[in-house]
Amino acid sequence: MEGALIARDKVGVQDFVLLDSHTSEAAFLNNLRKRYQENLIYTYIGSLLVSVNPYQELDIYTVTQMKLYRGVNFFELPPHLYAIADNAYRVMCSEYNNHFILISGESGAGKTEASKKILQYYAVTCPTTEQLQTVRDRLLLSNPVLEAFGNAKTLRNDNSSRFGKYMDIQFDFKGAPVGGHILSYLIEKSRVVHQNHGERNFHIFYQLLEGGDKDLLCWLGLERNPQKYTYLIQGRCAKVFSINDKNDWKIVRKAFSIIDFTEKDIEHLFGIVASVLHLGNIQFEEDSNGHAIIRDGSQIKWISKVLSPLNVDLAFYARDAVAKAIYGRTFTWLVNKINGSLANKDSTQKTVIGLLDIYGFEVLDTNSFEQFCINYCNEKLQQLLIEMTLKAEQEEYELEGIEWEPIPYFNNKIICDLVEQKHKGIISILDEECLRPGEATDLSFLEKLEEKVGDHAHFVTRKLADQKTRKSIDWVDFRLLHYAGEVTYCAVGFLEKNNDLLYRNLKEVLCNSKNSIIRDCFLLSELDNRRRPETVATQFKNSLTSLIEILMSKEPSYIRCIKPNENKEPGKFDDFLIRHQVKYLGLMEHLRVRRAGFAYRRKYELFLQRYKCLCPATWPHWHGPAAEGVERLIKHIGYKPEEYKLGRTKIFIRFPKTLFATEDAFEY
Ligand code: ATP
Ligand code: MG
Repeated sequence: MEGALIARDKVGVQDFVLLDSHTSEAAFLNNLRKRYQENLIYTYIGSLLVSVNPYQELDIYTVTQMKLYRGVNFFELPPHLYAIADNAYRVMCSEYNNHFILISGESGAGKTEASKKILQYYAVTCPTTEQLQTVRDRLLLSNPVLEAFGNAKTLRNDNSSRFGKYMDIQFDFKGAPVGGHILSYLIEKSRVVHQNHGERNFHIFYQLLEGGDKDLLCWLGLERNPQKYTYLIQGRCAKVFSINDKNDWKIVRKAFSIIDFTEKDIEHLFGIVASVLHLGNIQFEEDSNGHAIIRDGSQIKWISKVLSPLNVDLAFYARDAVAKAIYGRTFTWLVNKINGSLANKDSTQKTVIGLLDIYGFEVLDTNSFEQFCINYCNEKLQQLLIEMTLKAEQEEYELEGIEWEPIPYFNNKIICDLVEQKHKGIISILDEECLRPGEATDLSFLEKLEEKVGDHAHFVTRKLADQKTRKSIDWVDFRLLHYAGEVTYCAVGFLEKNNDLLYRNLKEVLCNSKNSIIRDCFLLSELDNRRRPETVATQFKNSLTSLIEILMSKEPSYIRCIKPNENKEPGKFDDFLIRHQVKYLGLMEHLRVRRAGFAYRRKYELFLQRYKCLCPATWPHWHGPAAEGVERLIKHIGYKPEEYKLGRTKIFIRFPKTLFATEDAFEY
């Protein structure tokens, strides 16, 4: 007994709900720290999983471990991603409903790693057939391809996702994975032409230069040395210790063949990657009339070889716009192509589990339009989590007539509204300014913000701050008080990035390209369309709205990832940094709701259907109202009155452990 107590003291408790009577932040952090120091990176709050990035390879993702978690009840084994994955899967199979697993946390917290590990778990543990092996391989190999094109080294993460990803894994009625579908969100195109100090461009550029064989590079007119390319040298860190570009190139090449890319596709795809590098090296000079002329014509030769005859007098701006457009649309093409190969051809699909892995909340030294979009996206996901857990949970008790002391929490809807509200929100104001070409500037946008949302509790401009010190400076910033902290955005470039326009004559050239991918990406019909395309922020807002709708229709599981320190260092538990994340992720509120509430609930009908065999009065048929049947059943099994509550339509059970005894009785 004593031994058990000591052991527990050393490794903490595996579910925060079981922390003795404390629900203080200090006790919470203490438990998290104890566990982290023992390399126990996972802890539950009820059915929510908290994960702290170990920054080292742990021996907990082996096939043996996967099999251990397969089909075992949630709380019987130490907390793990696999338990969350398995639970979603088992409920899906028994109740034939759709699920999603939302993985959130700031940049570098471990979301992408978690999502890959869950996918591997399904690939290894789900039943499969020989025909379905290909589906399985394609699902797994879609990752390295998308990461090559959509991830990059940033200051915060050597493999940072620069796009949002939602992936449905489709299952048939036997629970075998039969297909998949990926939705991608707003790739950070600006990275193609500009990188901050200490950051890189997308991985694929370095992989191609390091790993591509001599003939390929020669055909593409490329040199192996990344220092030769303007688009690769700005961050001054082409080589990264933790990244093996050569090896990654091999994996990507192999993945292409399994995902069903033809040699022609691959050729055209690398043609595009190379042409972006060549574009970046085009330099302009002024001629005697002050017009831009291309300094060295040899670059154009290569572009025309891989793209089309680009003999236009590009200026730098247009050059970068073309590079961004080509890369951004090729990424969308890539996602579509992968979707084609993951498509379930014989429509045996019954249910799905969706995995959401999106770029995490980000605060840089200079935050631009991209950070604005990324952080807005994180606000939306936080809002979804609040809606589906804290709010929904408390409303459900009320609706079901169960006595309940409400627990206060911060609802970030106010910030979502500030950004997205029609006519009054920041995106609408930005869009309005984008409609006044020639007149509006980033500064006039700031003035409008000041005028329209200046009074908002979560909005601050530098101007206001400086009025206090009575210093007048040129202000180009505005500040938002996000749920996860304060971020100062530099408004420079907001209008241009939101408009995202490409000169018509450049589009025409691209529409006529000999490269079939480019032709697919730039359709002639786009040239005829006189309607103004939606702005980037509005498109993003709409795609997030539909994502939230997709998610709301499914059963949720949550993984909250925490970044332990800023140095990517194993074993270092930075109290200050972690406390901040615990706070803004709302983990304490979540714990309080969980402790006061009931971990398990099911509609009477479903519950009765599943467990009726445990009680002679309900087996094989119960003819009365389902609620009465459940009451008979639950008393018969021996539940004490304080362990459960009967609501209007559902039974609520406080601790799932007692339920699992029931499950076991049922299983055996
Ligand atoms: P972003 O928002 O920037 O995409 P992220 O949350 O997706 O960030 P990851 O890329 O998943 O972060 O993790 C960052 C790095 O942390 C990984 O490259 C890996 O080195 C390490 N890491 C994360 N999770 C684990 C884990 N479970 N085991 C070992 N290392 C991990
Ligand atoms: Mg990521």
